[in-house]
Amino acid sequence: MSYVSGPVHVVGGGLAGLSAALALAEAGRQINLYEAGPSAGGRCRSYFDRGLGCRIDNGNHLLLSGNRAAYAYLDRIGTRHSMGGPGYALFPFHDLESGERWTVRPGAGRYPWWLLDRGRRVPGTRLRDYLGLLALRRAAAEATVASLFAAGSALYRRLIEPLAIAVLNTLPAEASGRLLAAVLAETLLLGGSACIPAFPRMGLSESFIDPAIAWLRARGGEVQFGRRIAALVMEGERVAALGTADGPVRLGPDEAVVLAVPAWVAVDLLPELDAPDTHESILNVHFRIDAERGQAGFIGLLGGGMAEWIFVKPGVLSVTISAANRFVDRPAEAIAETVWRDVRATCDLPERMPPVRVVKERRATFAATAAQHRRRPPARTRLANLVLAGDWTATGLPATIEGAIRSGQTAASLLLAA
Ligand SMILES: Cc1cc2nc3c(=O)[nH]c(=O)nc-3n(C[C@H](O)[C@H](O)[C@H](O)COP(=O)(O)OP(=O)(O)OC[C@H]3O[C@@H](n4cnc5c(N)ncnc54)[C@H](O)[C@@H]3O)c2cc1C
Repeated sequence: MSYVSGPVHVVGGGLAGLSAALALAEAGRQINLYEAGPSAGGRCRSYFDRGLGCRIDNGNHLLLSGNRAAYAYLDRIGTRHSMGGPGYALFPFHDLESGERWTVRPGAGRYPWWLLDRGRRVPGTRLRDYLGLLALRRAAAEATVASLFAAGSALYRRLIEPLAIAVLNTLPAEASGRLLAAVLAETLLLGGSACIPAFPRMGLSESFIDPAIAWLRARGGEVQFGRRIAALVMEGERVAALGTADGPVRLGPDEAVVLAVPAWVAVDLLPELDAPDTHESILNVHFRIDAERGQAGFIGLLGGGMAEWIFVKPGVLSVTISAANRFVDRPAEAIAETVWRDVRATCDLPERMPPVRVVKERRATFAATAAQHRRRPPARTRLANLVLAGDWTATGLPATIEGAIRSGQTAASLLLAA
């Protein structure tokens, strides 16, 4: 990577591209951002749904207070206050099979004294069961999450399994133990103050995306929507132009590119690239409910037909099902009916299903297996003026908001380093 001091062309307006653009603009670089879609945000965005008559997110996104880069990003664009949540570490669950309800409430401190209090830990677990969490740190590169815990144990079924599916978007029998360990090391294992859950009070775009675009534009950044980069034109060991439907955008000798597109697009543009090539779906089922009904909050479900996490906001109740390749080809109506049954088993709601939208994100994240993890490339490429960003690059984390934002920062640092 040679030092490039001129304008930077950021391809992709998801969190990775926006994070790179913010860091580079703050360092005084001119930013030209190209987003193929009609608006920014990629896999983390809000939009108006005509059928429901309201704005929804493409899917529920949960942040934890240990997600340092994500909170630094929100601070930079001034939207930390737009995140809501309980304000302390609290994870409510309902087991639909046994009817039991409980709340895991880690204490704020680093030492897990809270585990001594039976009422704060997972019912049916013993103190020593939690030592297994420490063993995660020593997980072999190939170890799956399921291979590291006793499958029938209450801790596994009632905490590890739902947590792993949500965080890794991959079933524990296939998911990498090391990737789960990487997340837990920065959250749960640091104590409750690092795992306070939060989600946008209004929407993903209001918290993460639109203010970032405004911030960039206020600093002279040029942001273009509906502008797909179709080719990278190489000259020797550098990118000389970006191919678009309106003709090439030529790069001066001091200009650079941050390629912040999804893995499958990056491989099309740069065929020499090794990148994750197996993905997992996430389903989100949004129900239009009375605005007054239900306090904002979330709950994890076990033992239902399909629903895993329920998020309630004024007017919308949204259900997430992760690692959803197992369900994604079912018709939307069948999915909605199963999920509504689960929802009614835990919330006091009428039998009749309200207006509903099923959002199928088929390539929500790369499958968080050891084999896919090995395919993740670093930000630096052999090209002198091209760096990569995206949740699928070698961040050490699974595909998350935190990983995407860090990847953008890494790409920016490489370009800014002399
Ligand atoms: C349903 C769902 C739920 C999730 N839940 C959580 C959660 O709870 N917590 C969490 O931390 N993470 C969650 N994630 C993961 C998180 O959303 C992603 O990791 C993150 O948004 C990825 O950002 P990115 O910038 O790497 O990629 P993307 O968001 O995919 O951004 C890439 C951008 O590039 C654009 N693009 C593509 N091709 C071109 C081209 N040729 N030219 C120009 N632009 C192009 C795309 O339109 C897109 O805007 C979830 C993801 C999904 C889908």
